[in-house]
Amino acid sequence: MTPKKQDPIALIKPKKLENIRMYELAKEHLSEKMQELYRDCGSFNLFVSTLDKEKKKMIGGNHCKNRFCPICAWRKARKDAMALSVVMDAMHEEHDVKYLFLTLTTPNVRADEVKSEIVNMNNAFQKLFKRRKVDRIIQGYARKLEMTYDGNPLITTPLFDKKQAYYERLGLKVGDENPTYDTYNPHFHVVLAVKKSYFNNSKNYIKRDEWLDMWREVTGDYTITQVHIERIKEKQTGNAVAEIAKYSAKSNDMGVSPEVFETFYNSLKGKQVIAYSGLFKEYMLKYKANELEQYMEKDKNEYFYKIMANWRSDQSDFVLEYIELTELEMLKYNNKKFDEFDIE
Ligand SMILES: [Zn+2]
Repeated sequence: MTPKKQDPIALIKPKKLENIRMYELAKEHLSEKMQELYRDCGSFNLFVSTLDKEKKKMIGGNHCKNRFCPICAWRKARKDAMALSVVMDAMHEEHDVKYLFLTLTTPNVRADEVKSEIVNMNNAFQKLFKRRKVDRIIQGYARKLEMTYDGNPLITTPLFDKKQAYYERLGLKVGDENPTYDTYNPHFHVVLAVKKSYFNNSKNYIKRDEWLDMWREVTGDYTITQVHIERIKEKQTGNAVAEIAKYSAKSNDMGVSPEVFETFYNSLKGKQVIAYSGLFKEYMLKYKANELEQYMEKDKNEYFYKIMANWRSDQSDFVLEYIELTELEMLKYNNKKFDEFDIE
């Protein structure tokens, strides 16, 4: 299944506004050259649209490709989601695998512990997947490292709902000082491909409590109370894909203050945020080599216009200019597979 399409021009405007805001926090960490690219990112975007101007897709633009740029993080997430959904369709079709969604987390840590915590979690994860019981049945995984920030000084209702069991155990209630205030939670979201026999052979099936026990053992942290594992039903593949492909850090979290930004920046810079193993790795290579085109949806739109979207900072908006495609461009942009990024 392919992620839902929305009007890309409507989507990029709030991202450009975020890019402008985030630049103020990011600039001191960037080289002079990158500062320029980051600041200009998305000031120019190129789209094609149908004659009725209803359907559009992005075909280019000046993008900085910085991981901490909201525009580029968003574009990368869409690109990863597209790749992952094609890969999962192909693996299911060719190897009859089933999918599980696993979330692994450890207790929140302070800013100065984040880096070592991520190292520990990586090691624990490797250990977990070397376990015979796991290794025997898992055909591969796509793993995403994500981090959230808890910036609530007091326990508020929504947080309380989410962490109720935890707070209750600590004897805390709404309005109390939040014990995880100013802490970070790095965690893994994982899609697992399993053999069909995972579900119909009790020797292969791993219960939630077993996952929890194993995660505790490999992390050495027995205070962990939660492991989330669920089967991904065929129709829900899109949700799992979105969860893996979405950004590692939300701008809302990362942009709280210069200190918080710096923690995110230092702990995620240069890190491999999505890792693929086994069949996922194999099929991701096939995807990149354009060998999975038969699993990609064909783009049936007939493009007629080229749209230049230029950012006008005095208006905080894009100014659009529609130009009819030339015959050559018509050939170039029509009858393609539904991947808006393959043209760049
Ligand atoms: Zn960018």
